[in-house]
Amino acid sequence: MLQEKNLGAVTQLMMGREVEGTVYYWTAAYLVDGLLVDTGCIYTAPELIEYLRGMEVIQVINTHHHEDHVGGNDLLQKEFGLDIYAHSQAVSLINKKMELHQYQELVWGYPVPTIVKPIQDQIKTEHHCFQVIATPGHCADHLSLYEPKQGWFFSGDTFVSEDQKVFRADEDIVGIIASLQKIAELENQELILFTSIGKIFPEGKASINKFLNHLEEISAAVANLAAKGLNAEEIKISIFSRESGLAPLSGGHYSIQNLVDKLLTRASPSRQTAIDYT
Ligand SMILES: [Zn+2]
Repeated sequence: MLQEKNLGAVTQLMMGREVEGTVYYWTAAYLVDGLLVDTGCIYTAPELIEYLRGMEVIQVINTHHHEDHVGGNDLLQKEFGLDIYAHSQAVSLINKKMELHQYQELVWGYPVPTIVKPIQDQIKTEHHCFQVIATPGHCADHLSLYEPKQGWFFSGDTFVSEDQKVFRADEDIVGIIASLQKIAELENQELILFTSIGKIFPEGKASINKFLNHLEEISAAVANLAAKGLNAEEIKISIFSRESGLAPLSGGHYSIQNLVDKLLTRASPSRQTAIDYT
């Protein structure tokens, strides 16, 4: 399913696999001044093509290599002959078959591997100039787009909510915090954040700072409980009461426990958490 939302100069395209009339997870792409930011998953690729037919799409970028951001690449290239750009580290990842967990296969599916080009520092459209900002952490090849005159910031999966507590097993919390601090230090006093789950944060810097404070509060609580001798599971229950329902659905790949484990490792880098995510 694809739903369009007009946000003035920016158009939001919400896309998600429909199963018996229900979409279980939406991913947002954005269309602004002929630039398409992300391409959804493979299941929604035909709808994206039909939506874009007759419209002026000149450039396409992928914020990162994950399957819900590159799934439309193949058809976009075949139907419109478009070049697609991504972080240099994403190029080889997008051009090979991904390894997906079962839940990812069900919700987003395997994208067709595509050849994308390494992005430059800037993307110019007819009316705007976007700075390409490396925002690693969610994954090493993540980038965001920043348009200083408008205060627009397309954050991909780097920032999705002020109180996120469920994280992937392969995310780098130190990198995430550094990327968030980088965004909070941009010269614009106000940023409008366009996230990949579709939520828009009009007071973006305040939202980023809330999220940073949220992570630091959890981090302090984790360190405090670890010092008292609680193990990782006990710390999670003590702070959050229970695990997210997404943890069993994803085989532990997406969980609150991941955040606790990462914060423990951050507090004490020699500490290794041995959890089987398979
Ligand atoms: Zn992602």
